[in-house]
Amino acid sequence: MTAPLTTLRGLDLLAEIQRLKSDRNAIILAHYYQKPEIQDLADFVGDSLDLSRKAAETDAQVIAFCGVRFMAETAKILSPEKTVILPDMDAGCSLEDSCPPDQFKAFREAHPDHIALTYINCSAAVKALSDIIVTSSSAQQILDQIPLDQKIIFGPDRHLGGYLARKTGREMLLWPGVCIVHQAFSETELLKLKAEHPGAPVAAHPECPPHIIEHADHVGSTRSILEYALATPADTLLVATEPHIIHQMEKAAPGKTFIGVPGGDGNCNCNMCPYMALNTLEKLYVALRDLEPRIDLSTQVMDAARLPLERMLQMAGNSVGKGDVGKPRIDNVVEPEDIDPNISGD
Ligand code: SF4
Repeated sequence: MTAPLTTLRGLDLLAEIQRLKSDRNAIILAHYYQKPEIQDLADFVGDSLDLSRKAAETDAQVIAFCGVRFMAETAKILSPEKTVILPDMDAGCSLEDSCPPDQFKAFREAHPDHIALTYINCSAAVKALSDIIVTSSSAQQILDQIPLDQKIIFGPDRHLGGYLARKTGREMLLWPGVCIVHQAFSETELLKLKAEHPGAPVAAHPECPPHIIEHADHVGSTRSILEYALATPADTLLVATEPHIIHQMEKAAPGKTFIGVPGGDGNCNCNMCPYMALNTLEKLYVALRDLEPRIDLSTQVMDAARLPLERMLQMAGNSVGKGDVGKPRIDNVVEPEDIDPNISGD
């Protein structure tokens, strides 16, 4: 539900959001890819695993989730008694779009001896069809706990799955989804930046394709990249993930220079997530005012999806903030032959 713009005219949005937050007993959770003004008023800013934990443990009655829909759905699944609102219900994800539940179900049924290790960037219905959910910061730790002879389907991000397979030597059957944002990073532009800033390390998210990862000095989740940015002695860092995370880097290390790796020909905005950008302060105000749009999922789907999510939280242990550091080791990826490549989100 979107209020007419006239009702927002003249409002002190920041003050009104704080007032509504208090009136509603609400908590505002924001992902690192949100606009700076949203990150700055959030009660907590984090990556998917951090945010899942916060959603599971909060005492607030309302969770205003400034991220994308699968993240808000995760919050609802972990705290079903709470009201979870998302400023714009159209905030989806190309990885979620790449993995329709009926096709995922059919793929699982075609491989009954495999378990499904599924990236959190998927719909609640796909989570309900999965055995264990992972985030980029917890994936390797969880993978290491699965017996070596257990066959694994990894979806929906083929780049994260491929990175894990190369790094650990585990063979996995990969679903062919991609993040349209990380897929868009340009190797040519990255090499130009490296030439312009000799010695500047590159930090990349494992959703990036291998031709970007191979230039990275650090590979990890958003939280892990943030920690690396602060820890590296280098005064300039090239960042190959959604560039809104640079806001937190600049706040924490104002003396350093952080440069977002461009996508395409270097002039497009394709390294920015179009879904995350749908959330605005105006929409957050309206969502808190009306408690809409809200996440509404069937009890059946939530109950089925909660189990693999709770396995993730249990198996991830204390991995928050300790992302998968390092470079891939060997090439050991089984590309799926029997999935229609057209269902990929790119
Ligand atoms: S950055 Fe990529 S993975 Fe993250 S929400 Fe946007 S499309 Fe999905």
